[in-house]
Amino acid sequence: SVGRDAILEADGIGVRFGDFVALDGVSLAFRRGGITGIVGPNGAGKTTLFNVLGGQARAGTGAVRFDGADITALPAHGRARLGLTRTFQISRELGALTVLENLLLAFPRQPGEGVLPALFQKARVRRAEEEAIARARALLDRVGLWRLADAPADALSGGQKKLLELCRALMLEPRFLLLDEPAAGVNPVLVGEIGDFIRTLQGEGMGFGIVEHNMDLIAALCDPIYVLAEGRVLTHGSFREIAANTRVTEAYLGG
Ligand code: ADP
Repeated sequence: SVGRDAILEADGIGVRFGDFVALDGVSLAFRRGGITGIVGPNGAGKTTLFNVLGGQARAGTGAVRFDGADITALPAHGRARLGLTRTFQISRELGALTVLENLLLAFPRQPGEGVLPALFQKARVRRAEEEAIARARALLDRVGLWRLADAPADALSGGQKKLLELCRALMLEPRFLLLDEPAAGVNPVLVGEIGDFIRTLQGEGMGFGIVEHNMDLIAALCDPIYVLAEGRVLTHGSFREIAANTRVTEAYLGG
């Protein structure tokens, strides 16, 4: 259905944990420049699928393609270099670091780290650091968090943390971004702001895949939406289409 327009594709993904089948032949396609949703009851396999797409986990069967390349065996940093990245929740450890430090940690190469750098290398490292700080500042300015640059990430509200997660991923300048529950723990006003920011980024050419439980955000942003249940794609379509599908309602009630 998405065919040649797809930038990211999963083809027949299977993941087992021992005897338990977490993903059972999942195939889906994310449109270039589009915003695709992934929903489903708890335990459906959404996180496992995200890990397979982002390169944090390996599938037992199936293939992942990004922009025409087979990336099935490519680790996360290799995918990031191609322009595919994902958000992560701010862990306890990262919560103790400042907002700015969180962004600088996300920056890709730290040349010379761990070895005594030669003088010319020092200059290069410094230039890279200055670039990273400039990029971090521009991003934090955009989302209104620059004034909190030196605050510990833990001091942020739920919504501000989600914006920080987004900015961390944006440090890598992705073309396609997988968002892990961008509205979780966020008050409704900020959910709207996060949605607006995602739309703005889409207007700049970025594509998205979003795992989310907040159906208002899914309805406002995503088309198509894939519904996962028990490790399989139950159906996909517009919000209107999936909302009218009784099998979708049943999957949520029966979970
Ligand atoms: P969702 O994100 O949709 O809630 P998950 O992908 O987290 O679903 O989990 C899908 C199923 O796989 C769940 O039943 C979960 O318990 C199981 N699962 C996930 N990760 C592991 C693991 N590392 N070991 C064993 N079972 C796992």
